[in-house]
Amino acid sequence: MGKPTGFMEFGRELPAKRDPKKRLSDYKELYLDFSDGQIKNQAARCMNCGVPFCHSGCPLGNIIPEFNDAVYRQDWEEAAEILFSTNNFPEFTGRICPAPCEASCVLGINKPPVTIENIEKSIAETAFAKGIIQPKQPKQRTGKKIAVVGSGPAGLAASAQLNSAGHTVTLFERADQIGGLLRYGIPDFKLEKWVVERRVKFMEEEGVIFKTNVNVGVDITAKELVANFDAIVLTGGSTVPRDLNIPGRDLKGVHFAMEFLSQQNKRVANIDLKVDHTGSAYKNGSLSAKDKNVVVIGGGDTGSDCVGTSNRHGAKGVLQFELMPKPPENKNEQTPWPNWPMILRTSTSHEEGCDRLWSITTKEFVGDGQGNLKALRIAEMGWVTAPETKLPKYQELPGTERDIPCELALLAMGFVHPQRNGLISDLGVEVDERGNVKADASYKTNVDKVFVAGDMRRGQSLVVWAISEGREAARKVDEYLMGVSTLESKDMGTLATVY
Ligand SMILES: Cc1cc2nc3c(=O)[nH]c(=O)nc-3n(C[C@H](O)[C@H](O)[C@H](O)COP(=O)(O)OP(=O)(O)OC[C@H]3O[C@@H](n4cnc5c(N)ncnc54)[C@H](O)[C@@H]3O)c2cc1C
Ligand code: SF4
Repeated sequence: MGKPTGFMEFGRELPAKRDPKKRLSDYKELYLDFSDGQIKNQAARCMNCGVPFCHSGCPLGNIIPEFNDAVYRQDWEEAAEILFSTNNFPEFTGRICPAPCEASCVLGINKPPVTIENIEKSIAETAFAKGIIQPKQPKQRTGKKIAVVGSGPAGLAASAQLNSAGHTVTLFERADQIGGLLRYGIPDFKLEKWVVERRVKFMEEEGVIFKTNVNVGVDITAKELVANFDAIVLTGGSTVPRDLNIPGRDLKGVHFAMEFLSQQNKRVANIDLKVDHTGSAYKNGSLSAKDKNVVVIGGGDTGSDCVGTSNRHGAKGVLQFELMPKPPENKNEQTPWPNWPMILRTSTSHEEGCDRLWSITTKEFVGDGQGNLKALRIAEMGWVTAPETKLPKYQELPGTERDIPCELALLAMGFVHPQRNGLISDLGVEVDERGNVKADASYKTNVDKVFVAGDMRRGQSLVVWAISEGREAARKVDEYLMGVSTLESKDMGTLATVY
């Protein structure tokens, strides 16, 4: 423990954010950097608790008090060694993880928690800047060939781990760029894409073979993969968006969030808009929120990213709806420490300008008579005691229906499951009751040699979970091929599982 009195001396501080007026004119990341001295003080706040709940709060089991101590001593080599031992990509999680570890930080019981996520980013960036981490080719190759399908964080983590174990890994991606949702979902203002590109180059130098524009199940049959590789890891994500099939759904101006967001990431990168993030043609041309009344339907990360992007386009106004009631603002008695608190979250995109409404149902997309969206017909929801059962029921409140002007509606209501046609049907892998690819405790599907990890297995989740799944699946593949594995594994604790 760096400084026993640190938590009493220093308050929680995060780096300043760029001025909202300036940041709305570009897509650059929002946070400025801290000096080494500021990071040292933040690391000094860690109490090195007897039972570090933050370990089990982190789905990767990051060894947080130990790296905090090393940062306090400014021993960046040691900090990096500890951090990279459990997390392949802290440069991603240090920027975009919702940080469940901080929700379970013991200091957080009666003071603001340690700024773990930002410390993680500082370690990762310092390690790159000082050349502490360098690409490492495995000492020996095993002669085993592995195909990984899908280059999001799960596929990248599985590939990095399997390559380090000496296997020859080919990572197939149907989009034109590597990174999955890191590349074409999450906007640049949260994660600039040079960060992803730096990692891809690093992994290439370590020996991972990347193949883009290859839709497995279409461009190569899945059976060819099975014939040509010793093991296959499916990390294709959860890509089928939840739709809102109400009257007017086919009007011009109603779009899935991913169509809108992926286009913007392409524009920032100067990549043409011929094909979308799935490799298919964009059916609706180039989308813009400029001078429009935008309504984002859905209250999660994707919705918030639509808000930030719409404001950068120059929308007339941005409104976000959530079907469920507004959560409590500070503490939620139903999710006490050290659980992930179900409370109101205000993202940096919300801070930039957006009205939010809760308990709203959208009943109809209203057209202008010429096929264009002009308004949304909405109504309020609430708890009403049903006379028959005497039980409260969440339902539309009579007399609350109204129209609100809207020329661009973005559907951000989550993803239901992976795409069935192509890869999944071609391979014949079973899916579970939610439609995700089914696997046993070894991440193995019903088809011999075929493993699955990330959102494709657990359903729509988080980057930190995808990395964790990729690492765990890699170990199981290594065991399957070699009988034993020396790859790291994390015994997932209850907190991480609940989150
Ligand atoms: C807009 C948005 C914002 C988000 N923001 C955050 C955030 O701030 N923090 C956070 O932690 N999480 C966030 N998430 C969630 C997070 O991005 C995902 O949980 C994570 O990326 C899942 O990783 P994955 O590797 O399983 O799949 P993905 O990242 O979805 O990658 C799957 C890849 O597989 C490819 N693929 C699919 N099928 C095939 C095939 N047949 N052949 C070849 N390639 C194929 C796809 O093209 C894709 O590139 C966000 C999600 C979205 C949509
Ligand atoms: S990966 Fe996320 S949960 Fe884990 S230590 Fe980093 S910020 Fe916390």
